[in-house]
Amino acid sequence: MTDTEHGAPRTAAAFRTVYGAQPHGIWAAPGRVNLIGEHTDYNDGFVMPLALPHTTLAAAAPRTDGVLRLHSGGADGGVVELRIDALHPVPGSASETLSASRGGAQRSGGWAAYPAGVVWAMREAGLPVGGADLHYDSTVPTGAGLSSSAALEVVTALALNDLYALGLEPQRLARLAQRAENAFVGVPCGIMDQTAAACCTAGHALFLDTRDLTHRQVPFDLAGEGLRLLVVDTRVKHELGDGAYAERRAGCERGARALGVRALRDVSPAQLPDALAHLADEPQLQALVRHIVTENHRVEEVIACLDAGRTRAIGPLLTAGHASLRDDFAISCRELDLAVDTATAAGALGARMTGGGFGGSAIVLVEEADAATVGKAVTEAFAAAGHTAPRIFEAVPSAGAHRIE
Ligand code: ADP
Ligand code: MG
Repeated sequence: MTDTEHGAPRTAAAFRTVYGAQPHGIWAAPGRVNLIGEHTDYNDGFVMPLALPHTTLAAAAPRTDGVLRLHSGGADGGVVELRIDALHPVPGSASETLSASRGGAQRSGGWAAYPAGVVWAMREAGLPVGGADLHYDSTVPTGAGLSSSAALEVVTALALNDLYALGLEPQRLARLAQRAENAFVGVPCGIMDQTAAACCTAGHALFLDTRDLTHRQVPFDLAGEGLRLLVVDTRVKHELGDGAYAERRAGCERGARALGVRALRDVSPAQLPDALAHLADEPQLQALVRHIVTENHRVEEVIACLDAGRTRAIGPLLTAGHASLRDDFAISCRELDLAVDTATAAGALGARMTGGGFGGSAIVLVEEADAATVGKAVTEAFAAAGHTAPRIFEAVPSAGAHRIE
């Protein structure tokens, strides 16, 4: 029995306490880390996330009166109650207080916008979804770049899919979840996080082409090879994050226009020198383009290594990816650099920041025998620098969203 399934009886009991009735089922969706392919998902590029053993559980039951009730063990406040026909993402509507501001700067009290947004997106797509009672429990750290928001959305989508017998494929659920986050919550995220939560499988990383959404499960047997993948949650989130994301995204779009391509994914490594020469007057755009083109290529190289059973060889590619995010994309920060530099100096095979940047988490590929030493070195370096103690745990490639009972 996994840790997730272990938590299910507690989640069912909490549902009974909150709603005074039995749930019709329990569902789980995981957080994720991205192994390689950062900020490529809004450039039609390649990404390679894996699901964490940390999950968000939902206990749920349908309702016949068009009411949606939401409760989370991880959020302050009681039950949030809404009418599903009154859900609108536009300012001034009944759901305004739920729909967080664009750019995600103000999300106070707004957690319910994520699941409510899923119901809205399903109904907007013409799907026959009615009301429901939902209770959530989660072991995914929130705001750590591990996609607790996608876990919350996808577990909601899957629960409603089953409660209302919609028969939707995991990738369709992922797209509905992304629509909820983009249009209802107001966060302009790509499709990676929701696809990871919906489609990952245990023992694999998920190679996803974000242009045509084709994907492939790539075996990633860390334990079998005597390796560990550590996650270092720096516990910081610098303010810069939301604005910088929009800025990088706009820069990439401008770069693609200047180069006459549909998206930066269409620039090959062989074409990069010419592309950079073409952008000679705009060094900032050059740097963005260089990151996206080299990062897409690193994803392909990582896949080639894994397919050839050369897992250790991905280490230097991860570290090169970090340098590119730090120097060209300029979205790292002191804490992330310290985690990566300390880990590699202490003997890790490779390390990089993962997620949006300006805080959040780094991943570290390490020999099993060195895991404790490397983790300790990072913790000590944070203490010596006066940073908050990081949270370090192992990323075991785990299952995507599924029904538990
Ligand atoms: P990340 O997705 O990287 O964890 P986000 O800022 O995108 O960070 O999403 C975090 C937000 O998602 C939280 O602030 C909260 O509003 C919401 N959230 C995630 N998981 C839960 C949960 N289990 N219960 C309530 N809210 C949650
Ligand atoms: Mg998120």
